Amino acid sequence: MLFDTHCHLDDERLNGDEAAVLKKAEEFGVITMVTIGTDEKTSAAAAEIAARHPGKIYHTVGAHPSDVDRFGETELAEIEKLAGETKPKAIGEIGLDYYHDSNRQKQVVVFERMITLAKELSLPLVIHDRDAHEDIYRVLAAKATGLKILMHCYSAGAEFVDRFKELGCVFSIAGPVTFKNGQSLRDAVSKIPLDRLVVETDSPYLTPEPKRGKRNEPAYVKYTAEKVAEVKGISFEELADKTTQNAKKFFNI
Ligand SMILES: [Zn+2]
Repeated sequence: MLFDTHCHLDDERLNGDEAAVLKKAEEFGVITMVTIGTDEKTSAAAAEIAARHPGKIYHTVGAHPSDVDRFGETELAEIEKLAGETKPKAIGEIGLDYYHDSNRQKQVVVFERMITLAKELSLPLVIHDRDAHEDIYRVLAAKATGLKILMHCYSAGAEFVDRFKELGCVFSIAGPVTFKNGQSLRDAVSKIPLDRLVVETDSPYLTPEPKRGKRNEPAYVKYTAEKVAEVKGISFEELADKTTQNAKKFFNI
């Protein structure tokens, strides 16, 4: 049994096809998933999807760093309201994205405000970190003590594993671990303790091999899990069991 810790089931590439997507996930052994909010609209949509599938799909409420230019007080207040009212399993995705061109200062302000929200609600964090490892580490070390932290689509390489481990982070591994050019991620996976590992699709993005080029969906977390098991030198069954247990513990399920 597998647990996809990060998917975007509200995305138009998946949401018209919900029954088929879930059936295929089940056929691939993917029983539980967390659908992720990135702003006030997708967080509300994620909450509705989770409400339709209790015990199977859970959701988060978040404010994605790439969207900060659009976030005013109204949008942020709406996100806070959804977080308080829809019983999300975490606040996220939140964080910093220095790859896309949006206001970095404002990203930090929104990121810190979301960490404060998570503290008020005693919820874990789901972190988006793209080309911003040092600043992510700095903000988390300063502001997020005492909170559970999941590094979504971990990409900071083996050299950051120890530092994020010290903060108590869980590391979520996505499709790039299966890519030909994914060696630095595979090196990181070798260093991450088994009790800190979970797997995700980030669907509809980041489709793993051998489906690369097609739409991603939760079923395909199986390919990522198979590769992670190979890197760790353990059986697929053990990896699936461990990562599912870790994910349930992290999200309090
Ligand atoms: Zn995502």
